[in-house]
Amino acid sequence: MLDLAIIGGGPAGLSCGLYASRGGIKNVTLFEKGLPGGAIASSSEIENYPGIEKVQSGMEFMEPWNNQCFRFGLKHEMKEVQQIIKKDDYFILKFHNEEIKSKNVVVCTGSTPKRAGIKGEDEFYGRGVSNCATCDGFFYKDKEVAIIGGGDTALEEALYLTDICSKVYLIHRRDKFRAAPSTVEKIKQNSKIELILEAKVTEILGDNMGVNAIKYQDKNDNIKEIKLPGIFVFIGMDINNEVLKQDDDSFLCKVNTLGEIIVDLNMKTNIKGLYCAGDMRSEAPRQVVCAASDGATAALQVISSLH
Ligand SMILES: Cc1cc2nc3c(=O)[nH]c(=O)nc-3n(C[C@H](O)[C@H](O)[C@H](O)COP(=O)(O)OP(=O)(O)OC[C@H]3O[C@@H](n4cnc5c(N)ncnc54)[C@H](O)[C@@H]3O)c2cc1C
Repeated sequence: MLDLAIIGGGPAGLSCGLYASRGGIKNVTLFEKGLPGGAIASSSEIENYPGIEKVQSGMEFMEPWNNQCFRFGLKHEMKEVQQIIKKDDYFILKFHNEEIKSKNVVVCTGSTPKRAGIKGEDEFYGRGVSNCATCDGFFYKDKEVAIIGGGDTALEEALYLTDICSKVYLIHRRDKFRAAPSTVEKIKQNSKIELILEAKVTEILGDNMGVNAIKYQDKNDNIKEIKLPGIFVFIGMDINNEVLKQDDDSFLCKVNTLGEIIVDLNMKTNIKGLYCAGDMRSEAPRQVVCAASDGATAALQVISSLH
């Protein structure tokens, strides 16, 4: 029986593993279905992690995280967890061909931004197409960008980008936004935002340097093009919460309407011994520094619960 099982080897899981193994938990294993590193490993650049002055690729940035936490005895198994169930006072982790028991579990399986399925979106992802204004907005300082989406996140990120960019085109397929009325009002009042409503983005254009234009069909069916280097797609997130789904389709712990796991400030779910950390938890800021902090917090809670 493990003392602690960590599911997911992104910044939250690795930080949790570091704090747990260095903090004296003997029997702790991190299960990661691929190579540890998480979502940031796919990013070409990260420059907002405090203390890391040099811009690095996500892969370069995450390499020392692995080396550091495995030095303190964290075990790693490259396995995909299928399901977590609760039995008496322990948990059972189900894999394809086996089951492992653990007294505590920290789930750190992250979230995945939804893609819009637009021509050129995949080709230019990370080269002008982004899902994160906090991460990539600065690369478009004093330049024009477009946002695709019409929910709270799209509108809030549009406002955020007006502090950095010279102009923000907000392109939405409906004539109304699905966002808080106060945010919609702020959007309408902001002179740096141009609304393009009832429009369908048809293509993202670019060359080997990255994105250089966005093409859309307006409400009168005319095809239009705007030259710009950056496009942000905010059409929602898929929360990687499958491992918590039970046989009857309910979740092992409480989740909100978005599928995010509800935790308190200590990363505790409503189930004793079950914690969630990082991008998959409710109210997550979805930044590496925040995910790392969550992972450490969860580990410290497990340590104190074992005393
Ligand atoms: C392109 C891109 C650029 C970004 N740029 C920045 C940036 O500049 N600055 C910044 O702060 N943040 C950035 N982010 C956001 C940052 O990557 C996330 O906030 C952070 O990685 C979240 O960490 P996490 O550990 O919660 O989840 P993740 O990093 O998503 O890690 C989850 C891990 O769980 C594993 N996993 C999932 N399901 C299972 C399972 N069933 N069994 C075993 N393993 C599983 C996955 O393989 C993955 O490795 C960026 C994200 C992307 C995609």
